[in-house]
Amino acid sequence: MNYPVLEINTGLVRQFAETVIAVCAKSGIVPTAVIKGYNALDEVTDALYDAGYRSFASSRTAHLKKIKARYGHAETMALRIPMPSEAASLVELADVSLNSELETIGLLDEAARAAGKTHKVIMMRDLGDLREGIFDPDSFIDAACTVEIEYENIRLHGVGANLSCYGTVVPTAENLSELAANAAVIEKSIGRKLDVVSGGASTSLYLAVGGTMPRGINHLRVGGANLMRSEARDIPDDALPELSDDAFILWAEIIETAQKPTHPIGKLGKDCFLRTKEFEDRGARRRALLAVGAFDIGDYSALSPLDPGVKLLGSSSDHLIADIEDSGREYRLGDKIPMALRYQAMLYSTANAQIEKRYV
Ligand SMILES: *Cc1c(COP(=O)(O)O)cnc(C)c1O
Repeated sequence: MNYPVLEINTGLVRQFAETVIAVCAKSGIVPTAVIKGYNALDEVTDALYDAGYRSFASSRTAHLKKIKARYGHAETMALRIPMPSEAASLVELADVSLNSELETIGLLDEAARAAGKTHKVIMMRDLGDLREGIFDPDSFIDAACTVEIEYENIRLHGVGANLSCYGTVVPTAENLSELAANAAVIEKSIGRKLDVVSGGASTSLYLAVGGTMPRGINHLRVGGANLMRSEARDIPDDALPELSDDAFILWAEIIETAQKPTHPIGKLGKDCFLRTKEFEDRGARRRALLAVGAFDIGDYSALSPLDPGVKLLGSSSDHLIADIEDSGREYRLGDKIPMALRYQAMLYSTANAQIEKRYV
């Protein structure tokens, strides 16, 4: 085994996903599983499939290609607004895509016609988070109605919104009701029901848990919450006890242990990532140097050691420094330290081919 090792408990992922699907069902929601956060690793996707997901989404068409190859009949959904340059491959690999530009939808229509297909489009409304979507409600409704009328090989599949990504705006009953109200206006204008009114991602799940999801929202795009409890934000501590942060554990090896001062010695400038820092002088303390770093996991603050006596102090590209003074364990050179991951560390470590994956 080459360290660091990312240990993935697929049985737990299946349990989390079953929990998410069940809580969504109570609010009349059939979710799509978002697979980008774990680089669409086959074993994890299998667990989501076994839990009952039959629709899979990613921002990257390479991930959707894997889904088409592995489960031919499952639905694929492109999450990121399509690049005009990828229209042909997107139509080939995605059954559905999220969109905000009529010009791009025109290109998808042409590509779908060339491929002899109908491509489904979900029009995105920007409810204030200021990433993708049409901001003005009237322009949004007009654009959706144009999609219905204008493009022969495009089906207006529904409408959606994305929150808590750029602007930190929380999905609420209020802002999602606005999406549902826009959907109702569009339905009246086109004379039929939309298939999908997509009310966001894992951060919207708490509304389903609390039973306050606005009527009319019938779809969510759930990534993180299938994989880790910390991604199902704002749920009460005693809700969904089936969810935990135990499914993804990174094991990193100790390459040096020593007692060292806690305040650096010498004239202080910048660290390897050009940051200035403040240090508290806590005297000499026992520490471990671990063979893992930003190259593997991004920002080390997305790691939490399972041993509460281990405190992470900092990292460079390939090293992580941990204070082990308060641990009850006697760590030695060569020991492996397990750490739970939050989203960013999962994103980096699953995508890094140099990190060995161990499935349990
Ligand atoms: C990544 C993404 C999701 C899934 O987000 P999670 O927080 O992981 O559930 C949903 N929708 C869009 C548009 C995304 O880009």
